[in-house]
Amino acid sequence: MPSTKTQPKDCPKCRDKKYNLSNHKGKLRAKLCSCFLCKECDGEGRTFRQDDKGMAFLADCSFCFSLRKRLRLLDDSGIPGKFSYSTLETYQPIGLQNKKAFSRAKDFLEDFYTTPKQPYRGLLFMGGPGLGKTHLVVAILKQLILEEEVDGKFVDFFQLLSDIRHGYSHDQSEMSLIEPYLKSRVLVIDELAKGRNNEWEQTILDQFISSRYNAGDKVTLFTTNYSDQGNAPTDTNERTTPFQKQSLEEKVGDRIFSRLSQMCDFIKMDGEDYRTKIKPPPRAIRKIN
Ligand SMILES: [Zn+2]
Ligand SMILES: [Zn+2]
Repeated sequence: MPSTKTQPKDCPKCRDKKYNLSNHKGKLRAKLCSCFLCKECDGEGRTFRQDDKGMAFLADCSFCFSLRKRLRLLDDSGIPGKFSYSTLETYQPIGLQNKKAFSRAKDFLEDFYTTPKQPYRGLLFMGGPGLGKTHLVVAILKQLILEEEVDGKFVDFFQLLSDIRHGYSHDQSEMSLIEPYLKSRVLVIDELAKGRNNEWEQTILDQFISSRYNAGDKVTLFTTNYSDQGNAPTDTNERTTPFQKQSLEEKVGDRIFSRLSQMCDFIKMDGEDYRTKIKPPPRAIRKIN
């Protein structure tokens, strides 16, 4: 990494991380901090080098290339901007079940760092709304991109379906829209089984799950508001949520459910919507969802 001797020790903007994440028009944006000065390339990102015959050629700066690449991957990941501040450090688990989920998220990262090339199981966080399921999967995804330079994507499945429908009338193939997600090393599918799940939607979902299931080197993280069992509420006064009414299996069908159970660990979360329970957090964790 470039020398930072002449730069401030504690940049108030990035706290010496050398980059800043923000919410730009609903998308997460990752940018180098203004405190970052690469002396090797003067901030150009490229430097002149010489080949064996002494000919000069322009190449990526070897000092800052990796950091730039990680920020580019994060920029292209599709993570919603409201999760700019979501990290494992800013997650506040309430209750035993959610503490276990948090601990599982940390173990998952630890396993990935230890054996990054190994194929292993993904995670499926299930529970009612407002428990921080998306916060956890986004935190994992961001950390893997920033620390391991992993090609990772977040898919808003509803938006994708709408883009595919739109694509049909503009001669854009379904595959051209789906492929970047299928190819990514780590994929987050948020709010699995949300919506009506008509036959066409099921077909697209099946394509996703089958492709990820068959690719041994890829890992998929899911969240869903549905349980693996359709628990009917025992208390008639209890507010019913999708989590209680219908099971995930009923929503996605036997085939997809069976694949999910083979490729993922199911992690149950419970409790009340903590967005309505927790006191306003300090600035750094204000945007958790
Ligand atoms: Zn800075
Ligand atoms: Zn450089």
